[in-house]
Amino acid sequence: MKQLEAFELLTAFAEKHDALIVADIGSQSLWLKAVKDRVQNLYLSGPMGQASSVALGVAAAQKERLVIAACGDGALGMNMTSLATISYVAPKNLIVAVMDNGVYEFTKGLPTPTLGVKWAKVPGTFPGFKKTFAVDALDTISDPFGGPYFIHADIEPGPLPPGPGLPAVIAHDRFKNYLTGAAKTTASPQQC
Ligand SMILES: [Mg+2]
Repeated sequence: MKQLEAFELLTAFAEKHDALIVADIGSQSLWLKAVKDRVQNLYLSGPMGQASSVALGVAAAQKERLVIAACGDGALGMNMTSLATISYVAPKNLIVAVMDNGVYEFTKGLPTPTLGVKWAKVPGTFPGFKKTFAVDALDTISDPFGGPYFIHADIEPGPLPPGPGLPAVIAHDRFKNYLTGAAKTTASPQQC
């Protein structure tokens, strides 16, 4: 499956359930934005691998909303402890998706150290997770608020994602303002 197709499936699922999506910096944010730029999307900036942790926080603050973390395999590999935390907290409204292409897409396709990780077995390793679904089987999730769930997308390495990204300040403020109605910032934007 191509990265674009996986994000199309994830976005369709998110729209069906009016879900929030928190995407890792780089490829995940750019592919997500390329499929459909939704105000419910938070494109992260700064360090890699934070989508699962930030999504956990969003899920805790927005218990009535379904929250999806869109993670790269290399990125999630940098923050595997977040899976232990999510497992321990076990928020029912959180889904963690890993886009597994075995490479760092942004750095010329260098292999990730997570190559060969059995992502489908995350629920057995981190028991708070209820079940793993393939990204092309999202419509079999009968109770989206019965998680946390794990989604595995088996992605073939491909071209760099289309740009440009949304400037970081705008991306963050837009998401925050959507959820809280807070005033917009006047800070200078930085590219994601
Ligand atoms: Mg990758």
